Amino acid sequence: MKAKLDHVALAVRNIEEATAVYEQFGLEAAETCTMEESGLRIGFLSAGGSQLELLEPLRPDNTVARFLERRGEGLHHICFEVEDIRAALAELSARGVELIDREPRPGAEGLTAFLHPRAGKGVLIELVQKEHPGP
Ligand code: ZN
Repeated sequence: MKAKLDHVALAVRNIEEATAVYEQFGLEAAETCTMEESGLRIGFLSAGGSQLELLEPLRPDNTVARFLERRGEGLHHICFEVEDIRAALAELSARGVELIDREPRPGAEGLTAFLHPRAGKGVLIELVQKEHPGP
């Protein structure tokens, strides 16, 4: 399994406010999207080869809203891109790594799955397999 750091995600109360903070470091705001079913607005800033992802809850009933309530704004998860997410999950599971998602689900950029923070020294880890346009 080979993984590449794809993005670092922060839980924030307001995407525009957080974007202004990170633009001070020369990061460039890219697209913002709304994931209705998960109740989140998601903003991306490009940071060289990887991205900063900003997660703003739209409703109080999702995991990011609960995270903000418990811990305030800050690091929410890191994401590694893998070539084959099903193979990666099978390999990690066979090694006894604690998964949250046994099966990948559709996310903002392709198929994603989360590993338990216990598997990442207290940091929630997301894996993503991006949908690359065909040749
Ligand atoms: Zn993410």
